[in-house]
Amino acid sequence: MYTKSKELFERACLSIPGGVNSPVRAFRSVGGTPLFIKRAQGPYLYDVDGNRYIDYIASWGPMILGHAWEPVVSAIREYAAWSTSYGAPTELEVEMAELIRSMAPNIDMVRMVSSGTEACMSAIRLARGYTGRNKIIKFEGHYHGHADAFLVKAGSGVATFNIQTVPGVTPGVSQDTLTAAYNDLEGVQRVAAAYPGEIAAIIVEPVAGNMGCILPQPGFLEGLRALCDKEGIVLIFDEVMTGFRLAPGGAQELLGIRADLLTYGKVIGGGMPVGAFGGRRDIMEKIAPLGNVYQAGTLSGNPIAMIAGYTLLKELKNNPAIYRQLEEKTLYLRDGLDKVLAAWGQPYTINQLGSMISVHFSEHPVTDFASASGASNEKFKIFFHSMLRRGVYLPPSAFESWFLNNALSYADLDETIRIAGESLKEI
Ligand SMILES: *Cc1c(COP(=O)(O)O)cnc(C)c1O
Repeated sequence: MYTKSKELFERACLSIPGGVNSPVRAFRSVGGTPLFIKRAQGPYLYDVDGNRYIDYIASWGPMILGHAWEPVVSAIREYAAWSTSYGAPTELEVEMAELIRSMAPNIDMVRMVSSGTEACMSAIRLARGYTGRNKIIKFEGHYHGHADAFLVKAGSGVATFNIQTVPGVTPGVSQDTLTAAYNDLEGVQRVAAAYPGEIAAIIVEPVAGNMGCILPQPGFLEGLRALCDKEGIVLIFDEVMTGFRLAPGGAQELLGIRADLLTYGKVIGGGMPVGAFGGRRDIMEKIAPLGNVYQAGTLSGNPIAMIAGYTLLKELKNNPAIYRQLEEKTLYLRDGLDKVLAAWGQPYTINQLGSMISVHFSEHPVTDFASASGASNEKFKIFFHSMLRRGVYLPPSAFESWFLNNALSYADLDETIRIAGESLKEI
């Protein structure tokens, strides 16, 4: 069933560390060998052995309308013929910035970069430059890319592989990253009180998605906003995952809370390598060439990346029914999974918001990193492989959210629920 994938993985391991270009893809925490993908269409992935899967990764978010969505594919074709990069400004970059401003709240100015990591790294430098302070607060199990400052108690692959300290990150850098538990406002207030006048920024995934999907408790984000206002701290919402996914204006719009700086990635590029950071004008004006906070990129605002992202975002803006449809599908999946999990009889928790959902094999509610870590990874492993064998592709880690795409039909969801029922019997 996986002959060609296995062969390719053996070959890959000779030339690429761990056989992959991003760690979670390697299937290490669930065991087995990763699938090599040949192509994808709509909600389906096809591997090199010709197997078909219903896809709940959606490239970790970007393929919100399904794979190979025709308008994006043809826009890329058209623009590629005019050259794939100029290293000089284009009209498209202006249109992209204006489109982002028209969709996302609280963005006076925005700069394009090439990944979510770059967006978050730049936002932190900017917050430090703006405030003249050094320390930041982040949350346990939250992931903001792989820049040095964020690799302290991080989520996603760092949590999946249980890496406590990352070699190569100097103690000098780590000591400026303070951590608190997500949803523990008093904990954050204690940390802030211990370093008065030293904290430049609080960076948070407004809806956590890198330890499964975990919702903010009522009052938590409001409390962060108030704390930042009181202490002159820059509040950064990392909307790399939630931006343009939970609503046209991301978590800010859905939850009605404003941040000072925002970071984006994933959906914003329509499947191309794109990130962005933006926010309040007085802060953004500190960026070079207006200010001295240096930040640059040879391929930033690349025309092919811009036209892919622009084409997708434009559709999301013009057709907000997409968000209602996505949510209805996700609720349908949640209810279906709830039924088969209840019939199965062992403990579980389902977390869901909009088109993000995760199943935790946990007796307790999952509200932070500690409770996410308390869930059974052994059960998840068996579930993951049973689903995969039957044609459903979940993220290969219990510490990841699943993402729905709007190409999924109700027949696909019914099939997923039926397969989940069968797979649970193997646990
Ligand atoms: C994926 C992710 C990042 C990193 O983005 P890359 O494009 O992988 O560098 C940062 N923050 C959050 C919340 C993410 O989910």
